[in-house]
Amino acid sequence: MRVPPPGLAARATSANGSVIREALALTARPEVISFAGGLPASEFLDVEEIRAAYDRVLRETPHRVLQYSTTEGDPNLREAIAARLSRQGLPSRPEDLVITTGAQQALALLTTTLLDPGDVVVVENPTYLAALQCFGYAGARVVPAPTDERGIVIDALADIAAKERPRLLYLVPNFQNPTGHSLPAERRHAVARLAAEHGFRIVEDDPYGELRFRGEPLPRIAAYAEASDRTVLLGSLSKVLAPGMRLGWLRAPAALCRSCVLAKQALDLHSSTVDQAAAAQYLGEHDLDARLVPARAAYRERCEAMLASLPHALPRGSTWSRPDGGMFVWVRLPDGYDTGALLPDAVHHGVAYVPGAPFFAGPGDPATLRLSFATHRPKEIETGVKRLARVFRSNSHP
Ligand code: PMP
Repeated sequence: MRVPPPGLAARATSANGSVIREALALTARPEVISFAGGLPASEFLDVEEIRAAYDRVLRETPHRVLQYSTTEGDPNLREAIAARLSRQGLPSRPEDLVITTGAQQALALLTTTLLDPGDVVVVENPTYLAALQCFGYAGARVVPAPTDERGIVIDALADIAAKERPRLLYLVPNFQNPTGHSLPAERRHAVARLAAEHGFRIVEDDPYGELRFRGEPLPRIAAYAEASDRTVLLGSLSKVLAPGMRLGWLRAPAALCRSCVLAKQALDLHSSTVDQAAAAQYLGEHDLDARLVPARAAYRERCEAMLASLPHALPRGSTWSRPDGGMFVWVRLPDGYDTGALLPDAVHHGVAYVPGAPFFAGPGDPATLRLSFATHRPKEIETGVKRLARVFRSNSHP
């Protein structure tokens, strides 16, 4: 165990610095084509209409939207999100929801309310890096579950559940960060049944589900009767409206909502009143699905450009995912490559990615990397992938 620097709690040294945050710093250099950050493309931020929504709430109800407000969140926003979830096949009421400062805060609230030090959390391996950080701060014992190209492997999860008695299973079932994989319906149902059988909760983190550009939406795990009272669904406006508004939500059974509200009071009292009001105004005035059509089409085109370029660029024996939505392609180079060690060379060649190893709980696979296709146009993606090819070629005997 590491010794904390003087004056710091031990838990302050439990989490490693985010490699993604550091990689994002590289995207500031204009000559670098960055596949690193999971940012929605700027050109699809609905700037004019978001500005109009802020103008309207500030003009019509300034004293309300500039005041403190309730911890649970803006009633209109909860209403709009509940209606949206219900339309998507998950019947929901406003009181089932707590608005959070991004889905990230929902993760922090859940680790506070559900986890004691030493509790077991099962994660897909690899998984979302900042979730691992949250569980690290909570002092949880993170147990990685094996995954294949269709997400978490059910037999392995059943064995882990029987042996480890987990408190929580954390999953990103749609277009997972970092792999881009989606969990098929039968595995979702199996996960719900295992949760009921072994008595663990499921955190179903779904910031990318509405960015589907191929195929039909899959049922939410929270919609299966077996697990409806033990699943917490997390959602976010970051990928579909604007990440800078920092708005997300959790949908949970009543008692857990209450506990999360108390925990949130200790963290930030409530999420920004004016941002919530503007989001509610926007969702009330616009059909978000219609607004998302061009972004989804562009992400599809960008993903296809990346998938078409990779076979010529990657060393023989590489494998990669083929997502139906979201933002990420996950690559595994042949054994011997170390994508962390190659990153400085890649940046020197004018291209950036996120090395895959930090996304693993336990020993990371150094031959993996995450590529985001969301932020660049197809031509730039082709150029960026050619640059990657040069990096891998000049390091062809790892
Ligand atoms: N969960 C996952 C899987 C994510 O990829 C992200 C953002 N990258 C978040 C949660 C946090 O999103 P938000 O911006 O809503 O805090």
